[in-house]
Amino acid sequence: SRPGASKKQAASVQFRNVTKRYGNVTAVDDVSFTIEPGQLVTLLGPSGCGKTTTLRMIAGLEMASEGQILIGGRDVTNLSAADRDVSMVFQSYALFPHMSVLENVAYGPSVQGASKKDAYEMAMEKLSLIGLKGLEKRAPSELSGGQQQRVAVARALVLEPQVLLFDEPLSNLDAKLRRRVREDIRELQQSLNLTVAYVTHDQEEALAVSDHIIVMSNARIAQTGTPRELYEEPADLFVADFIGDANIISGDLVSVSGPTAQVKIGNVSLLLPHRNAGHGTVKLAVRPDAIFLDENAAAPGALAGTVRKASYLGTQVEYEVDSAIGELFVVQYGRKEPIAPGTPVSISFAEQRGVAIVPNA
Ligand code: ATP
Repeated sequence: SRPGASKKQAASVQFRNVTKRYGNVTAVDDVSFTIEPGQLVTLLGPSGCGKTTTLRMIAGLEMASEGQILIGGRDVTNLSAADRDVSMVFQSYALFPHMSVLENVAYGPSVQGASKKDAYEMAMEKLSLIGLKGLEKRAPSELSGGQQQRVAVARALVLEPQVLLFDEPLSNLDAKLRRRVREDIRELQQSLNLTVAYVTHDQEEALAVSDHIIVMSNARIAQTGTPRELYEEPADLFVADFIGDANIISGDLVSVSGPTAQVKIGNVSLLLPHRNAGHGTVKLAVRPDAIFLDENAAAPGALAGTVRKASYLGTQVEYEVDSAIGELFVVQYGRKEPIAPGTPVSISFAEQRGVAIVPNA
């Protein structure tokens, strides 16, 4: 096996109708999902939606009020954290300040009964795996934020858990480092074939690292899917809006023919993929990059608009455009000359890509 690879098999995680109450607050409400072995699954949602509570219930740091939790097919609902074979990387890293990097990482195996020599050996192995060799004698305070984060990961990995948990692991890092560390975490997870549950409120981070995303809203699951499924086929307006800044537009479903729906928005008729049931007035989630602006006056049957604002951002230009169907947020990639504010434009849509009919709630 690969050096540093876990000797244990990655395990699945299963929630069956799990509810968590604190007094009269329901933090997690009848939630069911499965994380397959070797997958990285993100719990994504706005503050207070219940994602941290869900993660802490996997760890055994909170006990479920109702329902069942299985890890590797074993019912762990009533097991304490120590008996679950799960490790967690905390947002704050939670390193021991008075111990060296090596001692921090060796601490877990020592507590579990490994000899000092074995514990140090295991710790060194994980530290080199994660690129920290040479820093093992330092105190955590002598490391950068990114390095402290790696120590926290090494400390979780050294126990060779069946499941690794991350609670907003990047929130203490600056934007540039965040991107690099999230790629490191993804690479590590894939090369070691780890089962990972990962909490974040950052949709871009979730899209970048996940096999599957569980979107939570108000203590419940709004939608589960691959990044692409969530982006292209949002199950409701919340998901459409939360992931990918969709323009939400009202339209009238005129007819359906097999996989295609004809929808009218204002004076424009669109032919859209018809994946979701819908009828009458429907909501459309239109991605900012699925709207095209043309500096010619709108032809009959096309939608007319006026550029209100243009922001040049290098790789893209972002526009706010006024139109008969409301204000549109538009992103255009490629090195085109930005269209000046005040310019009348003809608006068209990438009908088969980036425009989704959102199911009627
Ligand atoms: P954030 O991103 O802000 O951490 P979250 O999605 O992780 O939010 P949780 O921390 O899981 O949300 O909290 C879900 C709900 O449960 C919130 O309304 C929160 O106030 C409540 N809650 C969490 N822990 C407790 C607790 N120990 N006692 C009482 N209420 C709690």
